[in-house]
Amino acid sequence: MRQRILPLLLAVALFLTGCNLLPEGGSPAREVSESSIWAMDTQMDLRLYGDTEGAVMAELITVLNRLDKTLSATSADSALTALNESGRTEDADIVYLAANARTVSAQTGGALDITLLPVSRLWGFGTDSHTVPDPAELEALRDKVGMDKLSVSDGAVSIPAGTMLDFGALAKGYAADLCRARMEEAGISGILALGGNIQTVGTKPDGSDWIIGIQDPDNTGRYLLSFKLTGSKAAVASGDYQRYFIQDDVRYCHILDPETLSPVQGSLRSVTVVADQGLLADSLSTALFVLGREAGIELWRQRGDFEAVWIEADGTRWITPGLKDRVVEGYYQVIEP
Ligand code: AMP
Ligand code: MG
Repeated sequence: MRQRILPLLLAVALFLTGCNLLPEGGSPAREVSESSIWAMDTQMDLRLYGDTEGAVMAELITVLNRLDKTLSATSADSALTALNESGRTEDADIVYLAANARTVSAQTGGALDITLLPVSRLWGFGTDSHTVPDPAELEALRDKVGMDKLSVSDGAVSIPAGTMLDFGALAKGYAADLCRARMEEAGISGILALGGNIQTVGTKPDGSDWIIGIQDPDNTGRYLLSFKLTGSKAAVASGDYQRYFIQDDVRYCHILDPETLSPVQGSLRSVTVVADQGLLADSLSTALFVLGREAGIELWRQRGDFEAVWIEADGTRWITPGLKDRVVEGYYQVIEP
């Protein structure tokens, strides 16, 4: 068996073109500050404009470390692990995320399912050993899984014994929302790359658009398509190249289909969602990857509150019409409204 796991790479990478570190005239007055941290199981790169004292950067790092501690499914002392062991929590972040996940799950026909942690573990994700599980073992988990196991009321989340939650599909989007809110409050613009999640905040000092690129799933150092974003936006990619293993020439990725309890096997390589809210973009990117292109496009037609890019295994790239005039480089096909 050939087994391979890539560390989580930025699914949507930040292009720094046009980001001069000094304003015109060479004065350092409009400062750029950058920090990179490891949190929520991924590298996070933060770039802020005008945070002259470094106070906002410090606050963002505090927020990200807090969420890392709260939402880790692997750490023994996180609030999430406490919930997964005791069956109940009143942790405000968890209650908020669970309620949101329930809504998006209902809106996506159950494609988003935050109860898949035991299944994910059986496939070896989050552990040192990845393997295709025995089908009977997989089926035995079915009665522990499903969004109907979740109860969210009176400021608490409850789950039955054996059911375990995992916020991996949406935690970074939520983190980006909290960072963005703090930056806007402080009047700071910037761009955050939280793993595969890009969050732009406000306007660059030179007034130009943010430019982000969509990674080539077969060569994450290359970009298939780049496009401009204006103001505060979240752009989140979900794909089969971020965490996966290969067994008997089949690729098994970290995104699971709740119906089959198995890694999504389809013609999609990645889906990128652009939305106003990071939590929504992150939740939808995972759900759209599960749903596949056709059902995802149908969801886009119904909702109209996000833009998206679908990258197919055959090399085709589909974009929603709202992104058409924003493309900087790369070929694409525009989906019918
Ligand atoms: P993302 O990279 O945002 O698409 O999230 C993928 C992560 O979410 C995985 O690493 C799992 O922790 C978790 N996950 C996998 N499949 C699902 C699913 N169908 N719904 C919700 N979370 C999932
Ligand atoms: Mg997601």
